[in-house]
Amino acid sequence: MFWFDYFCRYYAGWADKDHGKTVPVDGDFFAYTRHEPVGICGQIIPWNFPLLMQAWKLGPALAMGNTVVMKPAEQTPLTALYVAGLAAEVGFPPGVLNVLPGYGPTAGAAIVQNPAVDKVAFTGSTEIGTIVSQEAARQLKRVSMELGGKSPAIVFADADMDAAVANTYFGVFFNGGQCCCAGTRVFVEEQIYDEFVDRCVAKANEQKVGDPFILGQDQGPQVDSDQHEKILQLINVGKKEGAKLCTGGGRKGDRGYYVQPTVFADVQDNMTIARDEIFGPVMSILKFKGLDEVVERANDTIYGLAAGVYTQDIDKAMHLSNSLRAGTIWINSYDIFDAAAPFGGYKASGHGREKGQDGLHEYTEVKTVFIKIPQKNS
Ligand code: NAP
Repeated sequence: MFWFDYFCRYYAGWADKDHGKTVPVDGDFFAYTRHEPVGICGQIIPWNFPLLMQAWKLGPALAMGNTVVMKPAEQTPLTALYVAGLAAEVGFPPGVLNVLPGYGPTAGAAIVQNPAVDKVAFTGSTEIGTIVSQEAARQLKRVSMELGGKSPAIVFADADMDAAVANTYFGVFFNGGQCCCAGTRVFVEEQIYDEFVDRCVAKANEQKVGDPFILGQDQGPQVDSDQHEKILQLINVGKKEGAKLCTGGGRKGDRGYYVQPTVFADVQDNMTIARDEIFGPVMSILKFKGLDEVVERANDTIYGLAAGVYTQDIDKAMHLSNSLRAGTIWINSYDIFDAAAPFGGYKASGHGREKGQDGLHEYTEVKTVFIKIPQKNS
């Protein structure tokens, strides 16, 4: 609940601070702008962070005076329904926050197609985001898209090795790898490549994979059978295409949707596991030789959600943070979020930003008003 509370409080603070301006214009006019609500916002969210995804969407929409119809993912509808119950309990006026569970092609599509919905905010896969964008475009609705990724993590030979291993590992395996910004393409400079692979493999082998209701587990199950199957299939594709399986590579146990923490080395840029979003606990480690080469290869993806850079050289860090085409760059860290810091994608990872002041623009219309100033004797 902490993160939900934190994001909602942050946006509650903006409710009386985002306003228009007076605009100096030619002629005898007083001109000003108003920031008005967009109207009814249809918000469609995925299952991987059910409460957090709600907070990122509800906070700015409600703070800017909109009403919301939210569709949670069918794997995780209860969290959203519970939040709607709490909203009713604390006195939200009827109709301000509506939660509509149901499947995407029915309930989700109905939201996108309904002419009363003024704006669609979608978080999910690039594949479904494309369908939703096309559908929303039929009515020229405003849309914002938070989509998938295949983010690079780049480790230079001068990096603090302990921190780089810990952060890149976390960047891949956090939430069982079910994270849009997972840094799953790990580029490692050739001088430290073998040691880095060995240390990631050792870390993967130490992880406790099991029931998250039992304290002390590092990695829980994947969300459902479909995701579990998809991950195992992609692991097999990785093996077939010639990547070196260093550890893991199969299901864990014979009950539940557990996957062994999996590390592939000698991964090449054109392999499926280096190009497709796996959304599971699978790390692909690639070797690189120099700065320009790694920038080009890291950017050679349809996605652009995030990137990690590990180096103690500020010049390299700045060069990379300017050159990588991604919405968030983490230097010597990964998965750092703050309510005040915008998040969103380049390219097929989406458009628009959530969080921070930038997130407000998605939920306001700007209206300009001109008032004629009567002149003496006219
Ligand atoms: P998904 O399959 O794209 O589904 C996302 C949402 O869209 C679900 O609520 C789904 O409903 C709904 N949906 C499906 N078809 C639809 C349609 N035709 N019209 C309207 N809505 C439709 O994604 P997912 O598997 O839930 O989530 C994983 C994906 O989300 C990954 O690609 C991940 O990278 C991305 N993601 C991105 C961010 C970000 O901030 N960029 C954050 C989290 C996750 P049902 O599934 O309930 O039928």
